[in-house]
Amino acid sequence: MTMAVTKYTLWKNRRRRVVQGALTPIVIVVIALGWKYPYLGYSVPVVMLMGLAGGFFRGRYVCGNLCPRGGFFDRVMPLASPARAIPSVLRNRVFRWCVFAALMGFMVWRISLDPANPAHWGRVFWLMCAVTTLIGVILAFFFHPRTWCTFCPIGTVQAAVGGHRHPLHIDATTCRTCHLCEKACPMNLPIVKYKTTGTVKEPDCVRCAECVLVCPAKSLAFR
Ligand code: SF4
Ligand code: SF4
Repeated sequence: MTMAVTKYTLWKNRRRRVVQGALTPIVIVVIALGWKYPYLGYSVPVVMLMGLAGGFFRGRYVCGNLCPRGGFFDRVMPLASPARAIPSVLRNRVFRWCVFAALMGFMVWRISLDPANPAHWGRVFWLMCAVTTLIGVILAFFFHPRTWCTFCPIGTVQAAVGGHRHPLHIDATTCRTCHLCEKACPMNLPIVKYKTTGTVKEPDCVRCAECVLVCPAKSLAFR
């Protein structure tokens, strides 16, 4: 039995592309001008809070649909990335929580140097954004456009608190094991491995539905 790609899924995917296109310039402007206008850095905690709140309801939905940097990695970096497999060590849970602790610790330490100065807070947020985006861009040049997203600290929290919600389903009776879905997946997830169980239990799924649209057998769906 094939799973219908609903008009709603199509519409949501189109909306995602439009929204990402509109959000992508934000990360470029913040990084380019944040050193001069530190209050631009406050856009960083806004996105972080949005991601953390959304994580409880839809896992990494915000990463895939509303994060300006995610949009930048999806819309711009494929032009320069070889789209090689993301190294598995970067998906390791211990590694990811170490990155979380290191970056959050660094942020708190930097803020503590001048805690009464709101411009200083903005500069710290800008610095965090600039450094981590630079790391993400370098990784994208060598591996996959969204390599950074594999261990982004906010993504790690989102996956932990809500990665199991609203999972993707795969129909083993129609799937042709062509792996086109995995090639289209911005998170480079092993979707076909879940054929036998029917539920793609990948907490890092960003709910983008790229795999649903590309599947020639209509074997994938969010129910
Ligand atoms: S694209 Fe569809 S048919 Fe091909 S492997 Fe993925 S789920 Fe199966
Ligand atoms: S599994 Fe599908 S919906 Fe999830 S991130 Fe990959 S392409 Fe997007």
